[in-house]
Amino acid sequence: MPVNKKISFSVLCAFLIIGAVLFVHNFTTPMQMLEELPYSEFKTLLAAGNVAEITVTRQSLIGKLKPEEGSKELKLFTTVRVEDPDLVKDLNVRNVKFTGMIENTFLRDIMWWVIPALIFGGIWFFVIRRLGQGLGQGQKGFMTVGKSKAKIYAEKDTKVTFADVAGVEEAKEELREVIEFLKTPEKFTRLGGKIPKGILLVGPPGTGKTLLARAVAGEAGVTFFSISGSEFVEMFVGVGASRVRDLFEQAKAKAPCIIFIDELDALGKARGAGPMAHEEREQTLNQLLVEMDGFDPRIAVILMAATNRPEILDPALLRPGRFDRQVLVDRPDKIGRLAILRVHAKRVALGPDADLEVIAGMTPGFSGADLANIINEATLLAVRRNKEQVDLSELQEAVERVVAGLEKKNRVLNKMEKERVAYHEVGHALVALSFPGADPIQKISIIPRGIAALGYTLQLPTEDRFLMAKTELENKIAVLLGGRNAEELIFGEASTGAQNDLVRATDIAKSMVKSYGMSEKLGTVTLDRERQPLIMQIQAPREKGDYSEETAREIDCEVRRIIDEQYDRVRWLLAEKKRVLVEGAKTLLDREVISGSELKAIMDKY
Ligand code: ADP
Ligand code: ZN
Repeated sequence: MPVNKKISFSVLCAFLIIGAVLFVHNFTTPMQMLEELPYSEFKTLLAAGNVAEITVTRQSLIGKLKPEEGSKELKLFTTVRVEDPDLVKDLNVRNVKFTGMIENTFLRDIMWWVIPALIFGGIWFFVIRRLGQGLGQGQKGFMTVGKSKAKIYAEKDTKVTFADVAGVEEAKEELREVIEFLKTPEKFTRLGGKIPKGILLVGPPGTGKTLLARAVAGEAGVTFFSISGSEFVEMFVGVGASRVRDLFEQAKAKAPCIIFIDELDALGKARGAGPMAHEEREQTLNQLLVEMDGFDPRIAVILMAATNRPEILDPALLRPGRFDRQVLVDRPDKIGRLAILRVHAKRVALGPDADLEVIAGMTPGFSGADLANIINEATLLAVRRNKEQVDLSELQEAVERVVAGLEKKNRVLNKMEKERVAYHEVGHALVALSFPGADPIQKISIIPRGIAALGYTLQLPTEDRFLMAKTELENKIAVLLGGRNAEELIFGEASTGAQNDLVRATDIAKSMVKSYGMSEKLGTVTLDRERQPLIMQIQAPREKGDYSEETAREIDCEVRRIIDEQYDRVRWLLAEKKRVLVEGAKTLLDREVISGSELKAIMDKY
């Protein structure tokens, strides 16, 4: 930009100087001792052959007379300029040299046009640029309209392989099939194999989702197209949609290949949620859906996307044929952490005492990116200390530094808290395993995840649900209450950790009473004017419907009754299975993560 500015400025200067020279030249030359002649006299002198040469200016003619006999002096004269069509002819007849004819003034007239135009142009340019800067850092000035910010990156060879990604073995296993497909699409399509079009990588930031997607491309040897969902949000209406079209066009031409959309949630938030300026996002999202539905499954283009908030995604994105396969990319357990540390320590000279296992033991809750950061910090420390190798002391100090950075973001649990979280999570899982029809338990973890959740129990729905029976909703509530109940059973009192569970349980109970007519007391009526899918309601509780105070009170009573019923049910269940709860929690404390089937095995033992 400064270069541009300089260029236009110097062009401006050049024109100004040329203009000034012309001006000065034409108007100052006559300012000598001149004899003013009437035009008629000039014509007479010309006819007599006494004029040596003349210069024509805008208002006058300036010329030299031939020297009179006996004198050598050329006499200068001036005369007004008159519209005289014969002038040029007469001058030619007399062989008089003349300069600065009409052409000359024509050029100068042009200058009078060009200079103001340039000045205006310059002012316009700078003002507009100012305006552009005023728009904020998002848009780089007015001049970049059309050059959309969301860049499509295409990498022919990512040079990343599965060996570079560690600690996410399950995810890798699930993606092997995709690699096979990309390598030999013919084989799959001939056998009529069904390959997922869209794969959603779900997990907290820094766990290697992007890395994993690039590794799939690297392993299969295909082009990797990537684009970030958050960049779409900043764009002008219509640009995002055309960008998506572009992306798919390019990808289809390069098939087999992978399209990767980072931060899908930024673009794929549930429609209608969120504040204004969502029009662009909606258009872009719609275009994405259109493209996903439109492309031939036989074309080997695999769409991958990453998110750490799958729950806010528009349900349309998760329908069959779209992102219908979800792959969990979670924070690594101890073995995983060790593997990741090893990957990143490959390029580093480690001292004999630098035991990575010690570091892996120190870092529960760390993501792959955090661990990469530790190796990096340790190397920097060693360099600063003029060491030839990285020793344990540097690694330990690096852990402390990274922890200090993380502590602001994540809570580090003490032993007591950890124990509580373990019982809480096993409580959820145990209820889910005991009541038929609840979503199966994938894994139970006490590795802290983000700010809100200290641990979590991951239940993956077996299928898309559009309908839920009353008992299923009740079971859902029961599972949510399982955590708090387990804490009460073991520690004699509940903790603040169950708040989110209670909110969600209450929301479900409320929907049952208000929207789905599942309360006998209030009858089969819907008290919400418009029925919304349960998932949306849980996110954004509806404003008060139009019913009386009394009905409101009844609703509250009914909600309480439903919750209480489930609470009692869970209490009985957990009391009965206390030994399973204790052993499950102990195992979990020990290992940080256990799978649903492991807990089931413990349950079957008793
Ligand atoms: P995400 O996309 O999940 O936010 P990234 O893939 O961008 O995370 O990870 C950032 C960096 O952290 C990677 O480039 C890599 O250096 C490191 N990293 C993260 N996870 C892993 C892992 N599982 N194995 C090895 N390195 C990892
Ligand atoms: Zn809970």
